[in-house]
Amino acid sequence: MTTGIITEISGPLVKAKGMADSSIREIVHVGKMQLTGEIIEMHQDVASIQVYEETSGLKPGEEVVATGNPLSVELGPGLLRKMFDGIQRPLQDFMDKTGSNFLVRGESIDILDHDKKWPFTAVKSVGDKVEAGDIIGTVPETKIIETRIMVPVGIEGTIKSIESGDFTVKEVICVVETADGDKELTMTQKWPVRQGRPYKKKTTPKTPLKTGQRVIDTFFPITKGGVAAVPGPFGAGKTVVQHQIAKFADVDVVVYVGCGERGNEMTDVINEFPELVDPKTGESIMERTILIANTSNMPVAAREASIYTGITIAEYFRDMGYSVAIMADSTSRWAEALREMSGRMEEMPGDEGYPAYLGSRIAEYYERAGLVEVLGSEGRVGSVSAIGAVSPPGGDISEPVTQNTLRIVKVFWSLDSKLSQQRHFPSINWLDSYSQYSADVQAYNDEHIEAGWGERVRHFMALLQEEASLQEIVRLVGLDSLSEKDKLTLVIAAMIREDFLQQNAFDDVDTTTSEVKQLKLLHIINTFEEEAREAMRLGAYYKEIMEGTQEVREHIARAKYIPEEQIDQFDSIHDEIKASLKSVLERGGAANA
Ligand code: ADP
Ligand code: MG
Repeated sequence: MTTGIITEISGPLVKAKGMADSSIREIVHVGKMQLTGEIIEMHQDVASIQVYEETSGLKPGEEVVATGNPLSVELGPGLLRKMFDGIQRPLQDFMDKTGSNFLVRGESIDILDHDKKWPFTAVKSVGDKVEAGDIIGTVPETKIIETRIMVPVGIEGTIKSIESGDFTVKEVICVVETADGDKELTMTQKWPVRQGRPYKKKTTPKTPLKTGQRVIDTFFPITKGGVAAVPGPFGAGKTVVQHQIAKFADVDVVVYVGCGERGNEMTDVINEFPELVDPKTGESIMERTILIANTSNMPVAAREASIYTGITIAEYFRDMGYSVAIMADSTSRWAEALREMSGRMEEMPGDEGYPAYLGSRIAEYYERAGLVEVLGSEGRVGSVSAIGAVSPPGGDISEPVTQNTLRIVKVFWSLDSKLSQQRHFPSINWLDSYSQYSADVQAYNDEHIEAGWGERVRHFMALLQEEASLQEIVRLVGLDSLSEKDKLTLVIAAMIREDFLQQNAFDDVDTTTSEVKQLKLLHIINTFEEEAREAMRLGAYYKEIMEGTQEVREHIARAKYIPEEQIDQFDSIHDEIKASLKSVLERGGAANA
């Protein structure tokens, strides 16, 4: 084991000499307190170490001991429902052990509970041939997620012994006879966080990841295995969007990384999520959730590590054949941690002080998302969808973190402070945002929800774009200059914006909308448009239509508050729309006669 001597301490960065036998990415124990650190640069025998714990009190001359291991996570039963810090220390267990709200430095603690017995059911038998990724047994870890115990990477052979029963994560459950001897397997495996877990093949994700958020699912969808970014200025709604997706996404497992943002937001998550029931399973959403917290009051270097810890855990569940979503709030705070370390190392700064490798680091992170055929002889597929919040200073998206992110993600939900100031939530700007999955998702929905879905959505999007240019004309020469037809276009566009796109995260019903109800909402707006345009064609005036449909337009506006189980109420709205426009025509006809 290499032992070096601390020569220099600069915040989270420590330099130590006498480290010639160590290498970059190696984990070390720093000083008398044995703080955890990672070597991020080597110059001859001097190692630059980013220390994951507060370094005050550390002194030059103290020892640094290398471990020979890279920064790794422990994967196995006991991850779900837990909250970890950026280097996977279980926060609750820490508090219980140390009686402190803060991580006590140098204190080490088991990552997964080493005493708890889990019921393991073997699904393979003695004599079976297995390879990396094959499932040898299962553990019902929570009420909704079964943890599948897989043969670790690098092991292939024949099962010599395997046993069902109650075991701790450290006990041997299976022995595999391999070309280089017998290998004992436990329910856990380790994986270095900075390295993506291997898979067989990546394919284009085309199945929508439903979020229950109408503007996302209908207009700017993400797929299972897709990558999305939510940039926006402070207060525009990034955290709410991330929380909503964590709560309602139709995925099996959610990894939520609170990265450098205020601690009270993670407290909100901890208080709120256990109360929330997943509509699909009727169980608390925590049963499928893992939280990683490195909030702004916690050490900055561990923040840098947190997104890798998060995505490695996500890949682990992907490998079991699950669909996983990972949220990171915010990747800008992660990039700032990177910038801080780079600055302390006196690296040549690139754009706005960020290191030159900012772009490649962002790309490496998002590239670990995807829909893949996982390892193993069983032909499973799994997916990781990655959704990152970006907080550009002043909301200026020309800055490097946003630009490098937009280069790699396929979905851009552009949060707009003008909309949030008008209380239009989610304040996703429909003119700036895009999803490169739109065509595939529309094709999927045409097949699975309703033929003509895609066309309807494209029509409404075109209408919103038309609204923007009409509003420009109104601004210049006033509403009266518009034709009757254009005035009606403005009314319908307003319906799409207010009655469909706007969605209140804090209303019990409105907070999430099934795809069927999203379709019903689109239908009534569509019916209104068709009937109103037809009435106009038959001679009704804009003013008459507006007067004659006031009440039904209110019903359309309130339709989003109709509970899912009362969805047939939508039928009567259609009837009402038709009846009201019929009577507009009749009255108009009488007046004209
Ligand atoms: P950011 O993370 O971008 O700084 P937040 O997500 O914390 O912003 O949102 C700021 C505030 O905006 C929230 O506290 C909430 O009051 C409001 N808000 C955001 N999204 C919604 C929504 N979908 N429905 C209702 N209110 C919202
Ligand atoms: Mg926020």
